[in-house]
Amino acid sequence: MANRKDNFLRLIKKGVYENPGSPYKALLKQAGLNFSDIDHMVRQGGIESTLTALYEEGVYITLDEFKGRHPIKRPGFQLSVHAKDFDNPLLARHYNASTGGSRGAGTRLLVDFDLLEHEACSHALFLMAFDIADRPTGLWRPLPPGVAGMKNALRHIKLGKQVEQWFTQNRNELNLGTWRHFLFTNYVIFASRLWRRPLPIPKYSPLAEALQVARWLAAKKEEGTPAHIDTSASAGVRVCLAAKEHCIDISGTLFRFGGEPFTPAKARVVADTGCQAVCHYSMGEAGHIGIACAAPATLDDVHLLPSKMALIQREKPIGKSGNSIKALIHTTLFPGCPKIMLNVESGDYGEIEERSCGCLLESFGLRQHLHTIRSYEKLTSEGMCFTGSELITLIEDILPTHFGGNPTDYQFVEQEENGLPKVSIVVSPRVGEIDEPKLISMVLETLRSTALEDKLRGGIWEEGHVLRVMRREVYESVASKILPLHILSN
Ligand SMILES: [Zn+2]
Repeated sequence: MANRKDNFLRLIKKGVYENPGSPYKALLKQAGLNFSDIDHMVRQGGIESTLTALYEEGVYITLDEFKGRHPIKRPGFQLSVHAKDFDNPLLARHYNASTGGSRGAGTRLLVDFDLLEHEACSHALFLMAFDIADRPTGLWRPLPPGVAGMKNALRHIKLGKQVEQWFTQNRNELNLGTWRHFLFTNYVIFASRLWRRPLPIPKYSPLAEALQVARWLAAKKEEGTPAHIDTSASAGVRVCLAAKEHCIDISGTLFRFGGEPFTPAKARVVADTGCQAVCHYSMGEAGHIGIACAAPATLDDVHLLPSKMALIQREKPIGKSGNSIKALIHTTLFPGCPKIMLNVESGDYGEIEERSCGCLLESFGLRQHLHTIRSYEKLTSEGMCFTGSELITLIEDILPTHFGGNPTDYQFVEQEENGLPKVSIVVSPRVGEIDEPKLISMVLETLRSTALEDKLRGGIWEEGHVLRVMRREVYESVASKILPLHILSN
């Protein structure tokens, strides 16, 4: 934390100015800024004020640009980019995997040992803050190409701790498409044994087998030491529902969620089983950004890690109605991050505040909190635009209240048919008989009342018969996340 400024300046010097292919270098040149200007600005006003000034000069990257989906366009300036243009050239040791991104093709991602070591430290703080260092630990996470499970397992054993069970949603099997990941997974497990930090043999448990995970948690509860388990929020909710349905006692379990918004509806299901759930804030391109607060003000209250990243916020208009959100803009400081981020929009927004919570993390100097984190990735069919939080309210509160079922039983799915976008509301067969026209009119009515685009008021979705109901299980993304909005690629 003490080396923040030096780390930032080194990254800008070596990773941007001395990196001929860096898109940031082109943007800084366009803004007429050389390295000594940045150095001066940071020494004078600090990192965050420098970043704000750079943003105003057009030195920022949107999510679509960062993923290589769109060229960078600024007044009088255009540059084609690929996702790999943002790779950190300072990294030497790495493993390539897919991020299991929620839409489109997976992006190459580097797993770096220095970064894992840095994150093992924040993981240690988390275990201490929640007093769970000696509790049995489990994972319900996919194997590579999903990286969250492997990284979480490695962080944990780095601390000399054991992972007792690793349930996975995908099979550990050798086939043509996944042989590299198969070799990587089995090599790591073999090596962990060689170095006497043994990882368990992963146990195949697809999402429908939540009961298997619940039974393990119940056994730990029975032994008097309820477990700590790392999984995605929707998978954790499925475990709690399975436990409740089969009258299994998993109370006292601590769920550590990641990968999806942790919402009040999900928290209610967890609390119903006498368990606790917390979540970190992280992204595939940079790892952990925030660690769960042990005295949270909101469900998703995290302590930001100032040694890893600098965050600023910019007002970003959503749609044409004049509504705006406080977009989070990310800059990596730690040299081991797989991507260099300099004012990169993540597609997320939230509240940053400095608050005295009194938890252990604060005593380590982590004073900045981030909470109420949501995605503004858009549902854009037929020019409509909704933020993630509006869709979440519909799926997790309104529809289950009126038509039965649980928050995980509904989902918006967008796909193209003959070039025309169609949006389906997936309703799990578990919900039973429903009045489909009534459900569609309720969704349209709700969206109309919260629509961020004026066009919707003309009822374009109704005229275009864009919306329909699909009875099937909700879709999982590559990383076994269930997102309120799922994009089916053709
Ligand atoms: Zn705290």
